[in-house]
Amino acid sequence: MSDCIFCKIASGDIPAKKAFEDDDMVVFHDINPVAPVHLLAIPKKHIASLADAAPADALVMGKLLQTGARLAVEQGCTEGFRTLINTGRVGRQEVYHLHIHFVGGPDVLPPML
Ligand code: ADP
Repeated sequence: MSDCIFCKIASGDIPAKKAFEDDDMVVFHDINPVAPVHLLAIPKKHIASLADAAPADALVMGKLLQTGARLAVEQGCTEGFRTLINTGRVGRQEVYHLHIHFVGGPDVLPPML
């Protein structure tokens, strides 16, 4: 999608601090981190939200989770981290390109929900 900021990060048209990239996906550092480690894992293919993921997207969804988790641990989340997907208006999704947040650091995170 030509006006999607995460598509532009995936294509390299907008810079981001990338931690991982392959043909299917990118992991990069959130521009406004809420914890010492805050990574976003995205598919290169434009999928607007988790609610729009199709059965054919299952493989890349698994890769996003597994790779994001590996990188979170490598970047210091050795005792755990939070994994979050915001979906739609009610889910407070701001960027409509599916992304998985990996958030953590040395300290226990505040409770959520
Ligand atoms: P929320 O802002 O409620 O977490 P999302 O789940 O849609 O909503 O998250 C969008 C995330 O994308 C935010 O954490 C925001 O800081 C991040 N972000 C927006 N633009 C960029 C960018 N250019 N580079 C890196 N991260 C970005």
